[in-house]
Amino acid sequence: MTETSLENPAVDPDCIFCQIVAGRIPAEIVHESDKLIAFRDTSPKAPVHVLVVPRQHYRDVRELAFEPQLMSEVVRAAEEIALQEANGDFRLVFNTGASAGQSVFHVHAHVLAGEELAEGAL
Ligand code: 5GP
Repeated sequence: MTETSLENPAVDPDCIFCQIVAGRIPAEIVHESDKLIAFRDTSPKAPVHVLVVPRQHYRDVRELAFEPQLMSEVVRAAEEIALQEANGDFRLVFNTGASAGQSVFHVHAHVLAGEELAEGAL
């Protein structure tokens, strides 16, 4: 596995989201920019369930917090997706660490939206 650092976040060849970013694994992309992509979760927990993913490999939101501009872009992307696909309201979830439910260790924001959004959607 490639080492990553805050100074030089790298692509991790073993990371499934790095492979989606590279186009090697298909995904239903709903939004993209030079810094991030957003695609539908394959196991949706809400009527709208999209993952916003920086193109560079950061392990989790604790690492992303050192990049406030990129963090802000993630939130803006979530806002756009919720406006495109629902009424503009959304829930933004970063599972952080295995015991908090993180299963893919490439930072991603779950954007959950839609009229049937339940309290316990994620
Ligand atoms: P986590 O559990 O790390 O917070 O969230 C990982 C999410 O990625 C899960 O909701 C899971 O359904 C989703 N996921 C895992 N593998 C893939 C994949 O190959 N494609 C897509 N689109 N979503 C995936």
